[in-house]
Amino acid sequence: MNSEIVLEAKQLKKSYHKDRIEVPVLQGIDLSVRRGLVTTLVGRSGSGKSTLMHLLAALDRPDNGQIHFCGERIDNASRSRRDAYRNQNLGIIFQFYHLLPELSAIENVLAPLMISQSLLHYFSNRKAAKNRAESMLDRVGLLHRATHKPCEMSGGEMQRAAIARALMTNPSLLLADEPTGNLDTDTGRDILALLDTFNQDDNLTILMITHDDAIAEKADHCYRMTDGQLNTESVHLNVA
Ligand code: ADP
Ligand code: MG
Repeated sequence: MNSEIVLEAKQLKKSYHKDRIEVPVLQGIDLSVRRGLVTTLVGRSGSGKSTLMHLLAALDRPDNGQIHFCGERIDNASRSRRDAYRNQNLGIIFQFYHLLPELSAIENVLAPLMISQSLLHYFSNRKAAKNRAESMLDRVGLLHRATHKPCEMSGGEMQRAAIARALMTNPSLLLADEPTGNLDTDTGRDILALLDTFNQDDNLTILMITHDDAIAEKADHCYRMTDGQLNTESVHLNVA
């Protein structure tokens, strides 16, 4: 039986405007992400994958269509509600890690808590927060690099730190935008295996963007983006 739909997009459209010319990027996207599954979104560079992820994370708004998270419509919610949706439910990782360069690995992992909680609340719980950050670094195999800054880490280590940071607040859904796009094949495989562990052990739902067909097709559910639309013919479900 199919698991419950966590995130659902209906008829999403998005255009950018350049020199008053409308450039359509998303032209009616329908997508469902089911709880506990790994869903991939594959497509060529420039096909609109990151644009779609920004809409799903409520970092930007569609021109048309709707986005529902666990049945709640979020695309037209207030800014504070959309921020709360993102902070409480989502972990996000990117191709280029987006770590803060001045902070150590553990400080980067703690950063989302410092942002989402009041300073008073953060300081009164900082021992528990530090323990949680250390256990996250341990789970991604990076505890021995806790005090290292990003410039002292390899690409694979930076992505591990970014994964620990994204999962620090125990989100139910991880959005990953080309998480192996800047890594060599073997390191990329290690990162995918790590994400798989969180999916299997914690039932973490994952939506992963990639331009690599081989990676995309290993997922439970795979969507292909072409010409601003998701090609439903290539959608398959490995899990019955
Ligand atoms: P992908 O992630 O699949 O490589 P993107 O979503 O980043 O694709 O981009 C899709 C298209 O939208 C590209 O043609 C890109 O140049 C254009 N685009 C992306 N962001 C912007 C923006 N902020 N302003 C104008 N055009 C953009
Ligand atoms: Mg992209």
